[in-house]
Amino acid sequence: MIPGQHPVPLGGLPGRVTVYEVGPRDGLQNEPVAIPAAVKVELVRRLAAAGLGAIEATSFVRPEWVPQLADADEVIAALPPGLRAEVTVLVPNVRGLERALAAGIGRVAVFASATESFAARNLNRTVDESLAMFAPVVARATGAGLTVRGYLSMCFGDPWEGPVPVSSVVSVAGRLLEMGCSELSLGDTIGVATPGQVVEVLDALVGAGVGIGQVAVHFHDTYGQALANTLAALQRGVTTVDASAGGLGGCPYARSATGNLATEDLVWQLHGLGIETGIDLDALVATSTWLAGHLGRPSPSRVVRALAGTADDHEEEGTS
Ligand code: MG
Repeated sequence: MIPGQHPVPLGGLPGRVTVYEVGPRDGLQNEPVAIPAAVKVELVRRLAAAGLGAIEATSFVRPEWVPQLADADEVIAALPPGLRAEVTVLVPNVRGLERALAAGIGRVAVFASATESFAARNLNRTVDESLAMFAPVVARATGAGLTVRGYLSMCFGDPWEGPVPVSSVVSVAGRLLEMGCSELSLGDTIGVATPGQVVEVLDALVGAGVGIGQVAVHFHDTYGQALANTLAALQRGVTTVDASAGGLGGCPYARSATGNLATEDLVWQLHGLGIETGIDLDALVATSTWLAGHLGRPSPSRVVRALAGTADDHEEEGTS
């Protein structure tokens, strides 16, 4: 039992939420200091042991694009086979998918953009060209029995274009689902969204025939809005929420150290609302505290900072 937390349910929310852990991929890819593969393997194992059932472990991207994840094959090969089949790996193209298939991966993700500016900068393609690139990846993955998650970035604002039309989000989302993605993750890549916007986008997707069960949300806490936006999404029936252990990963497109919503902050809210996650918060805090030692700086997560002493005590007692 976490000291100070007294769970009280709020009506109209899901009873259980899947926390989709992005720290080992989305978090670490922005870390400037090279992290040894053994530490990454230990991170994934500890996250799984803490009860996280959905973990994005790495990316089979070309090493020169993301040097931090150049050891993706080594990391995946070192995972226990059962865990290897459960984690998700980001694949940017058919070559990346071939590496995932060879490694025994069961779940992959592709990364699309709702805006032309971000597609040009991140993928060096137009939105149409990037979708044309993903179509054979998704077809081959689903044909091989893999599940495919489709990321959709810049859904709520773009640093070069400003506001993003809801119709653009709905259009690209629909094309990812038609391709065969089984889940969409709506990204607030620069963290500017506020709850009304979240509801507007979710309602537009549902109005276009998208099942809310297929939608995940990926909020960044750059402007302190991630948990408010999460609550709005839960109220609309979303049951999968992305987060990064310890708040790993700054935002490369906004001048802020605060990027991904911290998994601990999310879990504190969910458990406080009486929502089941299957996650042991103490074990998660201990993991982020351990990783912060390797990164050489404290976690930006409020919950990690509040509970770190407690979790360390538990770890020393061997009870975490
Ligand atoms: Mg992110």
